[in-house]
Amino acid sequence: MKRDTICVQGGYQPKNGEPRQVPIIQSTTFKYDTSEDMGKLFDLEASGYFYTRLQNPTNDYVAAKICQLEGGTAAMLTSSGQAANFYSVFNIANCGDHVIASAEIYGGTYNLFAVTMKKMGIEFTFVSPDATREELDKAFRPNTKAVFGETIANPALSVLDIELFASVAHAHGVPLIIDNTFATPVNCRPIEWGADIVTHSTTKYLDGHGAAVGGCIVDSGKFDWKKHAEKFPGLCTPDDSYHGITYVEKFGLAGAFITKATAQLMRDFGSVQSPQNAFLLNLGLESLHVRMKKHCENGQKVAEFLQSHPKVGWVRYCGLEGDKYHELAKKYLPDGSCGVVSFGVKGGRKAAETFMKNLKIAAIATHVADARTCCLHPASATHRQMTDEELVAAGITPDLVRFSCGLEDAQDLIADIDNALKAVK
Ligand SMILES: *Cc1c(COP(=O)(O)O)cnc(C)c1O
Repeated sequence: MKRDTICVQGGYQPKNGEPRQVPIIQSTTFKYDTSEDMGKLFDLEASGYFYTRLQNPTNDYVAAKICQLEGGTAAMLTSSGQAANFYSVFNIANCGDHVIASAEIYGGTYNLFAVTMKKMGIEFTFVSPDATREELDKAFRPNTKAVFGETIANPALSVLDIELFASVAHAHGVPLIIDNTFATPVNCRPIEWGADIVTHSTTKYLDGHGAAVGGCIVDSGKFDWKKHAEKFPGLCTPDDSYHGITYVEKFGLAGAFITKATAQLMRDFGSVQSPQNAFLLNLGLESLHVRMKKHCENGQKVAEFLQSHPKVGWVRYCGLEGDKYHELAKKYLPDGSCGVVSFGVKGGRKAAETFMKNLKIAAIATHVADARTCCLHPASATHRQMTDEELVAAGITPDLVRFSCGLEDAQDLIADIDNALKAVK
């Protein structure tokens, strides 16, 4: 199946007389005839469902679709993008380990890494997404277990040189984890460029309608854990909590990572997606390929309009000729990037606030990547506790507006922006 067909039909193929739409299996538990049958599941000797905290058929249908779209070998849904990124790292890094991450990542992920996981004893080094091979090399330590970055960073909109990051990670015997939320597998498949694990906040474009918070982890099945067994004991030595099975032996490179994350992390933390939300996510996925085209078209038109406007100081959109990331975008995102554009209103914080207040179609929301256009001024919302100096240090200037183009008519969006800019004196 080609990409567009996978969006519509991937993951779930009903048999004779079964429901055409993905069924919502709204059940916490699953019934078995004998204790022996169930025991085999608990020992990971047989595959099957027993408790929705670990696995649910609806979730697995939808995870299988995202897995196919990304070109992976196994995938799981999580309750949120935060849970997906946490699991993807914690599945291979323990107390005393070290991870390298791009400094330009989603604020929630940055906090998860720099504050919460640090408390768990995992140290992070943040590097520029523009780092050279030499700069990346220098960040490695003997206890480094992974490298993490975003295809298109939220909200910085930098484009990561995935091939370079993958090649350096592999030279040091560790996997590259890529959060592909903004690009989606429609516009970029990081596994084709060497990424080993792909994560998503499905809350964004994959759902696309602002209906359900969720996340996903996809494994490429390509990283050879056994070759670096001393770094990854969790995958390469027996797990006492499952009668001493060794994940890479029992499930192979194709299944070890996701099976371990399900059997250990889902079992113990329970950040499972509700089957209802998985159903809604699947409705979104069915039109992902159609929607992304329009999001990108609108993003491009809005970015070009902003670039030509005298009241706009700067625009960041990798689809623009001359953007710092245009060349990388041509390589990694040849069909388009996303609908999110950031720009600065001349006049700084005050001017940005006036602009926001005067929008009529674009709504002020912390959300992005939604069918409805939304807009955020970080300096007066998500980052309002920071001074102008602190904002600049964090790469967020006081004038920055993040504009997430929805699926409306581009001319309406442009007229809305034009009107709101008129109010800026
Ligand atoms: C929103 C977002 C997250 C966090 O996802 P939630 O579903 O809100 O938990 C992670 N990464 C990126 C790039 C995001 O945009």
